[in-house]
Amino acid sequence: MCDCAICHRVEQLQKGANPALIYEFPHSFFIMGDHQYYSGYCLLLYKQHVRELHELNTELQTALHRELMQATSAIVKTFSPWKINHCCLGNTDEHVHWHIIPRYLSDPDYRKHPWLHADEFSAHFIDDARKAEIAALIKVNLPIK
Ligand SMILES: [Zn+2]
Repeated sequence: MCDCAICHRVEQLQKGANPALIYEFPHSFFIMGDHQYYSGYCLLLYKQHVRELHELNTELQTALHRELMQATSAIVKTFSPWKINHCCLGNTDEHVHWHIIPRYLSDPDYRKHPWLHADEFSAHFIDDARKAEIAALIKVNLPIK
């Protein structure tokens, strides 16, 4: 039994209806972040348990990047941020995933890294109904043909 938190999340998403789900890509799930400290904060979870991006073959790297760009385009179209931060870290959850973080000039620390105020994220958790509302707004703007 895998004890990876992201594998568990992927399993839940594969089981069906999930208010955080924006879109299921061939290789990843595009979901709402649990908090909205940054409006439009989302994640892209690779479906397979792979620890590092370089461990994917070139075709999968390219496909995942395409999905990341489609997800990002939808967030930008929905929220018009000043900038996007893409973070693929995996120090806590060693499973390839991306944090897609819109940044705004209204943030006094917009030049700093997005975890500067991580201790405040929990004050910005959103409930399932709100996740579903925002997910629907973003989904409309996905450039999927
Ligand atoms: Zn995993």
